[in-house]
Amino acid sequence: MNTSTTFERQTGSVARSVDDLAEWLARHLSPSSHLRLREPMSRRTTLRVGGEADLLLEAGTEADLAEAVRAARSRGVPWMVLGRGSNLLVRDGGIRGLVLTLNQPYFSRIEVHGVRLHCGAGARLKDLSAEARRCGLGGLEFLGGIPGSVGGAMRMNAGAWNAAVFDRLDRLRFMSAEGEVQELPAAQVPFSYRRCDLFRNHIALAADFVGEPSTPSEVEARARDLNERRWKSQPAAPSAGCIFKNPAALPAGRLVDELGLKGTRIGGAVVSDVHGNFIVNEGGATAADVLALIELIRTRAREVRGIELETEVEIIGE
Ligand SMILES: Cc1cc2nc3c(=O)[nH]c(=O)nc-3n(C[C@H](O)[C@H](O)[C@H](O)COP(=O)(O)OP(=O)(O)OC[C@H]3O[C@@H](n4cnc5c(N)ncnc54)[C@H](O)[C@@H]3O)c2cc1C
Repeated sequence: MNTSTTFERQTGSVARSVDDLAEWLARHLSPSSHLRLREPMSRRTTLRVGGEADLLLEAGTEADLAEAVRAARSRGVPWMVLGRGSNLLVRDGGIRGLVLTLNQPYFSRIEVHGVRLHCGAGARLKDLSAEARRCGLGGLEFLGGIPGSVGGAMRMNAGAWNAAVFDRLDRLRFMSAEGEVQELPAAQVPFSYRRCDLFRNHIALAADFVGEPSTPSEVEARARDLNERRWKSQPAAPSAGCIFKNPAALPAGRLVDELGLKGTRIGGAVVSDVHGNFIVNEGGATAADVLALIELIRTRAREVRGIELETEVEIIGE
């Protein structure tokens, strides 16, 4: 397998374990997997902020992924899965340990069998939605505007326009922290609004979605309508989508608007003028800028309205 840069030695026992893991992976994994050392997470997240991950593995096969998980575990190196980074805010100190991604061709495949779409967890939701449209399968149009992967969407039970991923999922394939692979009908997997806890400690590998027979032109018309509505209400600049969960009293975007915080800037991070629940990176923002803006909004919401805002975006790293 390939390593992208020369590995520079770090200090400390975790760093030595990471060092050892990198060398072991470089020797044992197949050529379809790629190891990146000190990978800036700003390149891997839609908000475009975040420090370096010690090690990032673009796994090419399930066997390589299982080897990597076991090798990390035996060395006490923490690992996490990264999808398209569209719901993540990575702190400026980066991520210690191993980051696994499934963006290689094996995990990005989408195959259509009748009304079923079988896809790898690394496939983009946009591509899944487009493939369903091409085949005249309805019901997956809502996924087209969500900039994540199938795996990230399973973890988040992502959704829009009153539809969510688990409404359309039929079967899941996933890997445990011990590298064991299992399949289950989606009906046996608990999920709730914007979460599926199975994937807190399991890696989504693949999924079968079910579409509804329709025609390409009908599906196309519905997709175009949803897309137009989305782009009227959402900023185009880099972001991580909605920053806060909606509190019971009112949508978070409206609350931010009522607090008069739209357009507020800290460094390169700005509360969007288009949608108050989006923080955009107008260029050169750091994670610290975004975190400071989040704190400012939370403080104002607490002081002025007595509302405790919770983040929807996942904040990780050092
Ligand atoms: C402009 C914009 C618009 C958005 N609109 C919506 C929307 O309408 N609806 C909505 O629900 N969300 C929306 N989002 C948020 C985001 O796109 C979704 O949450 C998406 O599902 C995240 O997928 P991802 O692949 O980017 O995951 P990431 O952000 O990379 O990761 C999110 C979580 O999933 C985990 N994960 C990723 N892949 C796997 C895997 N294979 N196995 C197990 N765990 C995994 C990660 O560890 C992490 O915990 C939007 C984001 C942006 C930037």
